Amino acid sequence: MAASSLPSPPLAAIHASHSGCWLRDLAGTRPVGKGEAIMAAADTPLLMLNAPLVASRLGYPDLSGLDLLELFAFIHPARFMVPTPKGLAQALELTEPASDDAVPELLQAAADALLAACEDPAWPEREGAWSALQSLVRLRWPWAGLLTPRIAQPQRAERWLFSRLPEWEEAPERPQPAQIVLQDDAITARLAELTGSGAEARPAQQAYARAAGGMFAPRGSQRQPHMVLAQAGTGTGKTFGYLAPASLWAEQSGGTVWVSTYTKALQRQLRRESRAAFPPERAAQAGRIGPPVVVRKGRENYLCLLNLEDALQGGFTGRPAIMAQLVARWAAYSQDGDMIGGDLPGWLGTLFRKRGITALTDQRGECVYAGCPHFRKCFIERAARASAGAELVIANHALVMINAARAREPAQRPTRIVFDEGHHVFEAADSTFAAALTGAETVELRRWVIGPEGNQRGRRRGLAARLADVASYDDEGARAIADAREAASALPGDGWLARVVEGAPFGPLEDLLAETRELVLARDESGGQEAGYGLETEAAQLGGSFIEVAGRAQEALEALRQPLMRLALRLEALIEDGPDWLDGPARARIEGARGAIGWRTDLIGGWIALLARLGGPGDPEFVDWLALERSEGREWDIGLHRRYLDPMKPFAEAVLAGAHGVMMTSATLSDGAETASGDWTSAVERSGAPHLGVRPQVFAAASPFDYARNAEVLIVTDVPKGDIPALANAYGRLIEASGGGALGLFTAIRRLRAVYGRIADRLARGGLPLFAQHVDPIDTGTLVDIFRDDPRASLLGTDALRDGVDVPGHSLRLVVMEQVPWPKPSILHRARRLAHAEKFGSGGQAHDDRIIRARLAQAFGRLIRTGTDKGHFVVLSSAFPSRLLTAFPPDTPVRRVTLDAALQSVAGSVSGAEGARAPQDQTDETRP
Ligand code: SF4
Repeated sequence: MAASSLPSPPLAAIHASHSGCWLRDLAGTRPVGKGEAIMAAADTPLLMLNAPLVASRLGYPDLSGLDLLELFAFIHPARFMVPTPKGLAQALELTEPASDDAVPELLQAAADALLAACEDPAWPEREGAWSALQSLVRLRWPWAGLLTPRIAQPQRAERWLFSRLPEWEEAPERPQPAQIVLQDDAITARLAELTGSGAEARPAQQAYARAAGGMFAPRGSQRQPHMVLAQAGTGTGKTFGYLAPASLWAEQSGGTVWVSTYTKALQRQLRRESRAAFPPERAAQAGRIGPPVVVRKGRENYLCLLNLEDALQGGFTGRPAIMAQLVARWAAYSQDGDMIGGDLPGWLGTLFRKRGITALTDQRGECVYAGCPHFRKCFIERAARASAGAELVIANHALVMINAARAREPAQRPTRIVFDEGHHVFEAADSTFAAALTGAETVELRRWVIGPEGNQRGRRRGLAARLADVASYDDEGARAIADAREAASALPGDGWLARVVEGAPFGPLEDLLAETRELVLARDESGGQEAGYGLETEAAQLGGSFIEVAGRAQEALEALRQPLMRLALRLEALIEDGPDWLDGPARARIEGARGAIGWRTDLIGGWIALLARLGGPGDPEFVDWLALERSEGREWDIGLHRRYLDPMKPFAEAVLAGAHGVMMTSATLSDGAETASGDWTSAVERSGAPHLGVRPQVFAAASPFDYARNAEVLIVTDVPKGDIPALANAYGRLIEASGGGALGLFTAIRRLRAVYGRIADRLARGGLPLFAQHVDPIDTGTLVDIFRDDPRASLLGTDALRDGVDVPGHSLRLVVMEQVPWPKPSILHRARRLAHAEKFGSGGQAHDDRIIRARLAQAFGRLIRTGTDKGHFVVLSSAFPSRLLTAFPPDTPVRRVTLDAALQSVAGSVSGAEGARAPQDQTDETRP
């Protein structure tokens, strides 16, 4: 990369890691203490990489400077970069720093390279830069002064972002898919095409692909989809295995296949791998309009252009306004406007320390649809429309469920669905079909109906403003809107939590929340009171005064539901009448409003049902409880909760009944103990199939990996439970023994932080950087990118990392679990445990064991991702029950050892010492 043509200003640079701080100025690079580093940064803006991280390393939250990440986001919007010195060097093709003290010099070289890039006539992201810079100058962005002399004013005025983005086009409705039968030979041939003609034949993958083909057979009866449950170990080649029949079916039938995942990592992988199966040329030849593969996420993932416009025009001030400018730069170059896990760097939001990114997405259905000036360019609308014409839609479990239940148009309802990561469908259904009557939920509903009140800013509009034209045309509609507005004033408003905590609630719903809080505090015996965790109590034996208050809250909700239902009927009638003023855009807006009202009346209906049952006998289909949500002792929400005892029941109605073919697949679909005996009982139960009387086809293939040679499970028996210093010591020494490359999994954030605090500095001094969720000011996706990129880095985390991490190769060679991952003994868990015991007569332990084995299997699955990966899986548990060992693949060696012996094994395999085994008194585990 060329050097800047203007003389570089003498920018000093600072780098801080756990092992120290280095400052580079005119005198060269030297180590400095934290105090000196803070003073230097206060004196003059210093070059740094990731200011919030440097601030946290220096223990000085107010640190600011010339952050190279911000500059990178401006110069190269929508480009991927791992936000570490090494990642920066790679992105700019500079020499990677060999050690911490070489980093400040790299930062200077990177600043030079980036500033030079914008003087290069071939700078690909030039359009829009000059205009954005003028705004950034006004906002006093620290980089603005350095960029101004380097970015020339274009000769022709730059188009505004909102006029530059392309418009989506209306597509004709598609006919229903043809009924076809896929032949096994054709599936095998398509698979061979996808894997490459030279690829060696993998019989298990071929068998898997043929089994997957079963879901595409024409349906024989209503509400009877073809269902396939396919368990295939890591390395079987599942993705191409199901994409082969899916692409054949989509091609021959003209229909759409949905592939649903649970993690963003798999979505990214699918996006890459599906290109070969769904080439655009073939789709175009077949007369398809638009891209053959579309990724769809929930609305809350995408940039809302109207929110961005509002932010750019004064809705955001100070640092968030700078962020809005950088987001606008990105929006012009983004592939699809996806802000969460798409091409917006995950680190951008964390640089600004506020929830700014969330405020730019479309939260909670504020969209005004065709009433929005950017409707024809809207990223969300584009994705929704494209998915109706696509061959393959990649989505997540929650979105598939929501779309199946309430898609606006039939073409957007999934009918052929592959649930990859199928072991998560149960929990996705559990949250999708849950009801939560809480302060946070009700305050949102109030805002949606009433709009901004008091000093609130922003572009949010209430129902009356959104439907002003309806109100002026239709008296009954106007009355319904006015009644809804009036009724919504009984809902909690801003400041509700403080009023409730101070004992001064306002209105029937706040009264209910205050009673709920009192009762939870009185009854909770979980032990969470002292630890500062959330508290809960079952919705049982409620006193007369609680029932009375609940009754008044129920009436208030009914008073809101009625006018909303009337309004929905008026809108329906209006669409049918088709008055003159109802042109295409107005119709689309009213249809949008009708959909939004529909799901809110359903939501309120769910709350009413929950309140209605409080005084009477419990409904065996549901589990109800009251909760006070807290984190680190700080209360943030209060409310009543309802879950289905079996969430697969509403799932079966909403998703399976309307589908023609469904596949659920995973490496851990059934329980390890059951797979060994060919018993699919729990996997079938958890698929929802029995609710429709469907008998799924089942398929199982073992992993082709050589676990006996490449993996070892070590159960460390001499780290006492609850002893934090011992736990930290074990983690620190294990990470040292493996030379980094460790993923540490915790079941409690408190313990994670305690361990991190004890070992991070020591490891860093040994050249082993340690990162942690819930500690480092970095989003989880970026943490995984950093971990993947540096084989000496280690990462500590909680649940989300247990199966959201796909790091093949040497970067991940050790997984350490702090203890057996017991399920949290919540009220919901207790109810399901009891139900399981009653149904199967097996005692509650079988239920718990299945959950633990699944968690162990998922965590173990992080370790060996390819045939050449090697590594250790360590559980720190003095009393690990042998019955849980079936969680691991059958041939994996398992040993119970002391920490010293485990260290020997881990270090031995790292140094290549052949078969470094534990001392002879440690016996190999015999499986039950
Ligand atoms: S159509 Fe809706 S989501 Fe899209 S930009 Fe406009 S308001 Fe935002």
